Amino acid sequence: MSYVLNDKIKNLEPYVPNQGSFNVIMDANESFIAPNDQIKEEIAAVVTNAALNRYPDPLAAAVCNLFAQYHGIDPSLLTAGNGSDELIMLIMTAFLQKNQKIMTLSPDFTMYRFYSSISENPCVMIDKNSDLLVDVDEMIETIIKEDIKAVFFSNPCNPTSLGLLREDVRRLITATSALIVLDEAYMDFWDQSLIAETRQYDNLIILRTCSKAFGIAGIRLGFAVANEVITNALKAVKSPYNVNTVTQAIGEVFLKRPDYLRQCTSRIIASKNSLAAQINEMTANKHNVKSFKSCTNFVLLQTPNAQEIQAALSGEGIAIRRLGDYLRITAGTDAENKAVVDALAKSM
Ligand SMILES: *Cc1c(COP(=O)(O)O)cnc(C)c1O
Repeated sequence: MSYVLNDKIKNLEPYVPNQGSFNVIMDANESFIAPNDQIKEEIAAVVTNAALNRYPDPLAAAVCNLFAQYHGIDPSLLTAGNGSDELIMLIMTAFLQKNQKIMTLSPDFTMYRFYSSISENPCVMIDKNSDLLVDVDEMIETIIKEDIKAVFFSNPCNPTSLGLLREDVRRLITATSALIVLDEAYMDFWDQSLIAETRQYDNLIILRTCSKAFGIAGIRLGFAVANEVITNALKAVKSPYNVNTVTQAIGEVFLKRPDYLRQCTSRIIASKNSLAAQINEMTANKHNVKSFKSCTNFVLLQTPNAQEIQAALSGEGIAIRRLGDYLRITAGTDAENKAVVDALAKSM
């Protein structure tokens, strides 16, 4: 007799990011801004002085208070997570019962569907149209018809870079009693957040992350924002020490610099605008390339030659993300943007 892995995990492979050696990394939507010397010194000091023999604060109160201040919201609505990824899995496993259905969109962030397969909750997908847009009325109809208990989607969306207006998201939230998990990972780069209205809804969880605009993907810090009832439940089901002491300490160093964080966000938006403009100019007379108007920190292109183009860029040490016929390129420094545009021009 021998132990056999169950069907849902036996064919899974560990997540492997882009492999190879790249000088220009534009495939993971991270920030191109590394911490400056002053911030590095302060990080060294807080890590040195951290009480590493003790468990962390289970409620991560200091980072929650600072994050709440940044957004002008009540800290009692926040739950901190080991990245928002942890919170997605937590919501999926705890807020849904056995076999209850979830809904997500295609294309959208693939982790929603992945975690639903682990928690064994059937996943209904709504396909976006050829402009990569989704009809909110179709979403509402499907929620009702399929008896959907939770909806997961990103706004603005990774990978499409497109966003739904606040008004449409409000309509979706209020149309049914399904739990709406609104992933605002890229909302720092756009202006249609519902974070200020969270308390008004009893079926809304907003997810935010420090991995994109704030430039600290490496420390793993994300937040769920929801009313008190949902927040209490989230805090009750999470593992007690989910956000470690070092992450909390470094998170505080960044979050207590709101002006710096806003400055980083503006620089990233300016870089994205510049990258998009350069790509649009370069592809203006290329009929088999379509670009999308981005509300995020990356640019999405559609071309039948996506695979060849990604391979050509890879050969030049430039990492970008390919999803079928689409290429997703994260905004970089001026030099990185120039490098990727030059390489695209050669390979298109
Ligand atoms: C990057 C990203 C996240 C962030 O996850 P973390 O675990 O906080 O790094 C969440 N959702 C979407 C849609 C993303 O693109």
